[in-house]
Amino acid sequence: MKTYDVVVIGAGPGGYVAAIRCAQLGLRTACVDQWLDPAGRPSLGGTCLNVGCIPSKALLDSSHHFHNLAHLLPTHGISVKDPKIDISAMQARKDRVVKILTGGIAGLFKKNKVDWIQGSAALQAGKTVAVTGHDGKTETLGAGNIIIATGSVPVEIPAAPLDGDVVVDSSGALSFPEVPARLGIIGAGVIGLELGSVWGRLGSEVVLLEALPDFLAPVDRQIAEEALKVFRKQGLDIRLGAQVSETSRSGQAVEVLYREIGTDKQHKLAVDKLIVCVGRRTFTDGLRPEASDVKTDERGRIEVDGQCRTSAEGIFAIGDVVKGPMLAHKASEEGVAVAELIAGQSAQIDHGTVPWVIYTHPEIAWVGKTEAELVAQGVSYRVGSFPYRALGRAHGAGETAGLVKIIGHRKTDRILGVHIFGACASELIAEAVTAMEFHASTEDLARTVHAHPTLSEAMHEAALAVDGRAIHF
Ligand code: FAD
Ligand code: AMP
Repeated sequence: MKTYDVVVIGAGPGGYVAAIRCAQLGLRTACVDQWLDPAGRPSLGGTCLNVGCIPSKALLDSSHHFHNLAHLLPTHGISVKDPKIDISAMQARKDRVVKILTGGIAGLFKKNKVDWIQGSAALQAGKTVAVTGHDGKTETLGAGNIIIATGSVPVEIPAAPLDGDVVVDSSGALSFPEVPARLGIIGAGVIGLELGSVWGRLGSEVVLLEALPDFLAPVDRQIAEEALKVFRKQGLDIRLGAQVSETSRSGQAVEVLYREIGTDKQHKLAVDKLIVCVGRRTFTDGLRPEASDVKTDERGRIEVDGQCRTSAEGIFAIGDVVKGPMLAHKASEEGVAVAELIAGQSAQIDHGTVPWVIYTHPEIAWVGKTEAELVAQGVSYRVGSFPYRALGRAHGAGETAGLVKIIGHRKTDRILGVHIFGACASELIAEAVTAMEFHASTEDLARTVHAHPTLSEAMHEAALAVDGRAIHF
């Protein structure tokens, strides 16, 4: 039996980062992963690199360029006659991006001397792991510590069974070989909006059916309402309070039956492709947590304390398979913290400053509390906001939609939340995360010099606005 200081199960952004950090700290480390790419080759990076963050952003960028040809460039005086998109070339580019990055992790494993073990891991008593390789052979690994990072998979619903052709999940929607004329999406959450944006920009008529009456329920209300207006103007047909109850395939199309919440009216929608984007569930199939006394909660998530320790000594769990937001950077930060704990260092994860991003255009990004959360908690606060349309740089770039909103504690002025809807929100939010990590006040941001002309001036002006002293609005 091979033995390691640490065996990591899963090589997504939680597991592969944890494995590299363990190795950096001098721990003998193996990382077991079962992922196979469409050609049947083992591929590192988990959901994020293979069918998540990376391929979705590659397609969002391609479709954004195509959309801009017709919609933004003419305002700059640039015209292109009859722009065309070659979907197979766009998909081939996306596949190359995925290949470069997954291959990059293999290189990092080699450099850091992490053993990449290809196959499915099952926990066994006594901190051993049984790995069944893709050839069916089994080997047992002994571990001083185990880190579970087995991630998540898309939720499936009986109302819309996947057929891998017309009715697909997010992975299927990243590989459409052509632009569907009529595209239905069940769930107007983060992933549904991103995929709807990709195919809508390329020419699909997109209808998003969302069961909840509120748009983007976890997002600050003001930001969500502003975003809803802009997305509808872009042509995304977002139907709220629309619960899908049944689907039936007819030839190459699918008929979707949905109920209007409140009125109980039944509606029908015919589409050429249907994407089921109703959330993700933790994945522990085949892992056998019970064999090591690792407890799971009522939702199947592995139970952990504030330092990602499971109920079994020496076994940790991180990322999508545990509580908290299903985000790649949250998984990675937990991975680093656990590696450092195993190496005897002290480590903590500040879950209160994990940023969220929705990569629509404009983007939505936030960190910290929303106004609704603060009201519910009885916290007294002040708000400053600043619209993109009052920024010189936004006008220059033709990106005037959106706003930055900063919430500060009424008494201490400490920044409690920052919410952005606008171009480059995914990059701008980093300043807010850093400020919150350093326990900054809105006054600290207001007294920080921001380069002119930049979109970051909206952050500066919103901080000034908390105290009613924005200059340009
Ligand atoms: P995963 O990435 O799911 O990796 C788990 C790995 O473990 C997989 O390789 C799996 O095969 C392997 N595994 C599971 N069980 C076993 C076993 N028993 N033995 C061996 N191996 C096993 N997040 C962001 O932060 N930003 C984004 O822009 C973003 N975009 C997304 C877009 C889409 C379309 C999707 C689907 C997700 C997106 N996410 C995004 C979410 C992000 O991908 C996840 O939060 C992240 O991948 C979680 O990382 P993880 O390491 O916990 O698990
Ligand atoms: P997210 O959690 O961001 O991935 O978003 C998933 C969305 O799908 C949530 O907003 C759910 O309300 C929505 N949803 C779940 N089931 C259904 C359904 N049957 N019909 C329409 N929307 C749904």
